[in-house]
Amino acid sequence: MIYETNSPEETFALAKQLGGAAQAGTVFTLTGDLGVGKTVFAQGLADGLGITEPINSPTFTIVQVYEEGRLPFYHFDVYRIGDVEEMEEIGYEDYFYGDGVCLVEWAELIGEILPQRRTQILIEKDLEKGFDYRRITLEEVGN
Ligand code: ADP
Ligand code: MG
Repeated sequence: MIYETNSPEETFALAKQLGGAAQAGTVFTLTGDLGVGKTVFAQGLADGLGITEPINSPTFTIVQVYEEGRLPFYHFDVYRIGDVEEMEEIGYEDYFYGDGVCLVEWAELIGEILPQRRTQILIEKDLEKGFDYRRITLEEVGN
């Protein structure tokens, strides 16, 4: 499924819709270059889950946990991870195969431990279509 947005608000709204419909155990992976809108997307998804506290990139921890929404929200940023062993140390399986919704930024860095069943999201720019244009590709795999 391919979506196209032309503003951060539109990306937020798309992600919010997905958050509103997400079921327990869903793992979203989020891929895209710096500044493409991954954080905007994470904020929309969280809003859709009913989370009102601010969502920041979990820069100093691998995972940030938000408990106040309709379902627990586990926001991962694995950009700085050196080895998947760091994921083992935080007990990632409890999150990936748990009762909440996971969003994993830079998921391609931990490809070997991603659940087979996941919703992959790729955000890309296309400057020929404008500075604020984003192509958002959503693919359910492992179903
Ligand atoms: P990332 O987390 O991928 O590094 P951010 O979400 O922090 O990126 O930043 C995305 C930037 O791009 C923001 O400044 C946002 O306002 C801007 N932007 C412009 N157009 C869009 C769009 N269509 N969707 C998302 N963000 C957009
Ligand atoms: Mg970010």
